[in-house]
Amino acid sequence: MTTPVLDPSPLDDVLTRWADITSIGAAAAVLSWDQETKMPPKGQASRGAALSTLAGLHHERLTDPALAEALASAAGSELDEVAAAQIREAQREVTRASAIPGDLARRIAAHQSNALATWQRAKADDDFDAFAPALAETIALTKEQAAALVEAGIAERPYDALLDAYEPGSTEAELAPLLTALRDELAPLAKAAAASEVVVDESPTRGSFTDEQQEALGRTIAEAIGYDFEAGRLDASAHPFTTGFGPGDVRITWRPESDDFRPGLFGVMHEVGHAMYEQGLPTEWAGTPLGSAVSLGIHESQSRLWENQVGRSRAFWQWALPLLHEHLPTTSDVTVDQLFPALHTVTPSMTRVEADEATYNLHIVARFEIERRMIGEVIDVADLPELWNETYQELLGIRPSNDAEGVMQDIHWAMGGIGYFPTYTLGNLISAQLFDAASAALGGVEDQLAAGEFEPLLGWLRDNVHRHGRHLTAGEIVEQATGKPLSSDAFLSYLTANVADVYGI
Ligand code: MG
Repeated sequence: MTTPVLDPSPLDDVLTRWADITSIGAAAAVLSWDQETKMPPKGQASRGAALSTLAGLHHERLTDPALAEALASAAGSELDEVAAAQIREAQREVTRASAIPGDLARRIAAHQSNALATWQRAKADDDFDAFAPALAETIALTKEQAAALVEAGIAERPYDALLDAYEPGSTEAELAPLLTALRDELAPLAKAAAASEVVVDESPTRGSFTDEQQEALGRTIAEAIGYDFEAGRLDASAHPFTTGFGPGDVRITWRPESDDFRPGLFGVMHEVGHAMYEQGLPTEWAGTPLGSAVSLGIHESQSRLWENQVGRSRAFWQWALPLLHEHLPTTSDVTVDQLFPALHTVTPSMTRVEADEATYNLHIVARFEIERRMIGEVIDVADLPELWNETYQELLGIRPSNDAEGVMQDIHWAMGGIGYFPTYTLGNLISAQLFDAASAALGGVEDQLAAGEFEPLLGWLRDNVHRHGRHLTAGEIVEQATGKPLSSDAFLSYLTANVADVYGI
């Protein structure tokens, strides 16, 4: 008797190649993390070269004809449902990477580093005319790229092909009603709050805090809500971010301010939410097409849920207040009732990254309305500053006094990241809808938060979101977890309840 030789699974060749592609990406991500946290200033030149080599290698492996053949042969064989999903997700990425002709990819890469440098100078000098030609070229190249993606079958419309890079399957037609609903509710709300007699006393969050005090508080809370420091670490960086190299190593960064604990603590809770998602991705799929985060909107929902629905709630602060008093002793007289309004201010402001949770989405609506026209219509770049200012006047009731704080404020368009912004708002909407569903499923979630019991909520997110990896689409995850398609209802009720509480409107 001889033991029958088992045929290798048709998927094996794909998965072996995919493991290499994932490793190359992980190596680049470690170098990028180091660049933002530890690298000395003079390391820039050699780091840039190393990252560029790895990016080239990553693209080469992804567009290797041998991988395309392995995919085609696997797709032609009998597959179970999970194997078919592996093929579907791998094929998506291969099609995307192969859709852009080499010549266009080179022109985009060459333009992007110049455009970024031009934007930095133009913003510092508040000189839009100096940035305009670079932005016009970015828009032209992005349109070429979108056309190539449509040609490859990634999406039916150019703007959808751009969205798809960040939020697979998402379309302008699906986003427009969600964002219009927000616009209709939030623009009047922001103006009413600005006109209200109520002046929120923000002094309960202010004081004089050392980095060490704030870090001890941040670490204690991060660990309590479920961030695994054995599979991660916390470091300082200029802009907070999360980066992961597999479920066993997901790192976060933060940046505290010495006179207000909010940016430091909520920054940590935000990044911890991102990181717990990646720590919870299915280990059995690590390094495979199904093993990574499904979309930026789902990713952002996890950060927003812990930052906002949990971190800004009265229930959470019933538990966390003694920790605040202990680590930041100058807050020792602060009560939950004093703290709550300072965590829910509504103040129209010029700058997206400094916006509160209500007006933040109006900043996104403004960008969505402008960038869908950039791609879908022919617009004169010279008209953009005025279009921006009018949109702000309409949505937020304020008008930028210069283009540096207006149309040039974000890095995204300078980097060619058109189609990215909507994922921030999707994250806010998804977080509220998930939290409502979790509350209904768990029962007494407020009591749990007030008692410092975070495991039931995290467990629900693990089961309903994290463990799926890319097996389900973002839309399917939301629908299965909450029993309905995504809408703006849950987020708007969450927000209006808090605004009514603080401003009486
Ligand atoms: Mg985020």
